[in-house]
Amino acid sequence: MPYAKPALLTIPTEPIGSIPRPPDLIQKLAQVGSEDPALAALYEDAVRDTIERFEATGSLVVTDGEQRKYHNFLTYCVHGLPNTAADGFKIPFSDGHTRRMLRLTRGPFRYMRYADAYLDAAMRYANVPVKQAVISPSALSLMYPAEGIAGYPRKQFIEDLLREHETEMRRCLQKGAHKVQIDFTEARLAVKIDPSGQLLDSFIDLNNLALSRFSPEDRLRIGVHTCPGGDLHATHSAEIDYADLLPKLFELKAGTFYVALACEQDRRRVLTIIRKYLKPGQRIFVGVITPIDPRIETAEEVRDRVLEASEYIPVEQLGTTDDCGFAPFSDDTSTNRDTAFAKIGARVMGTKLAEKLIGAHGS
Ligand SMILES: [Zn+2]
Repeated sequence: MPYAKPALLTIPTEPIGSIPRPPDLIQKLAQVGSEDPALAALYEDAVRDTIERFEATGSLVVTDGEQRKYHNFLTYCVHGLPNTAADGFKIPFSDGHTRRMLRLTRGPFRYMRYADAYLDAAMRYANVPVKQAVISPSALSLMYPAEGIAGYPRKQFIEDLLREHETEMRRCLQKGAHKVQIDFTEARLAVKIDPSGQLLDSFIDLNNLALSRFSPEDRLRIGVHTCPGGDLHATHSAEIDYADLLPKLFELKAGTFYVALACEQDRRRVLTIIRKYLKPGQRIFVGVITPIDPRIETAEEVRDRVLEASEYIPVEQLGTTDDCGFAPFSDDTSTNRDTAFAKIGARVMGTKLAEKLIGAHGS
């Protein structure tokens, strides 16, 4: 065990998911399709190396770095479906670039692959628990076109979507994922698209329909991630006030929340909102690292951010994380692997420093 002496209080720390892919994998992917057998060895190397480097940071929970999610955290499960087109919902980022969802062209809606396949590969290499991220039903609901699909009503689509999502979640839970994290990056974006809040309400309702299918024990291992987006050092909704999001977010029937916080202008104001709306039994992993900032945080900075958060969130309900993944889109090379792991190392070390201080005060 890494601890000589167990702390009285533990502050869990977990990554969000993605790590920049190795350059040789990105290069090969530019030449062949993401399912090309020529990639098998490169994928395998990437997963093994990612987990080794994750464990070397002292992280007690790791991911596969989403090395096999193509092309991103949003569409990995539907990428390659014959009944989709490339011109789906557009996500605009702060620097002017956009990313797109796929558009469903006809029914029925089925996943092409489930994320538990990634978990299988990761667990072969990992010596510590592995968490798995999956995309939210609300994000995939954006694939259904506003004008509808002849012969495949939206109601049927939603039924199919919920069943596919539930299948993916159950497979990950059954295979022993430490946590299954639902990526809900479109939550804050929803408030930007529809300031009335109705779109966000509909997303919360849909995701709660899915979460309701799970037992309270399962939900302890189910988390939800919210962030302002992170791609090519840009965000999609950082200007949206958390006050318009967090009260509704905590209505989700999940045990754990991963909330981007490090990049906020006024962290104490956000922490005040969290304190007000947090429910008993929920654990909030606050972001203490900014993946889109090239500067590597120090362990002392992280420690101070954890201490700050502990003034607002009871320590039994507190955890730490990164604000977002380090490369949610597979071709994003704006951060390199060395920087990502150095930042993760600072998070692990800084959280441990805070844990010691808080544990000592509590004794
Ligand atoms: Zn994120």
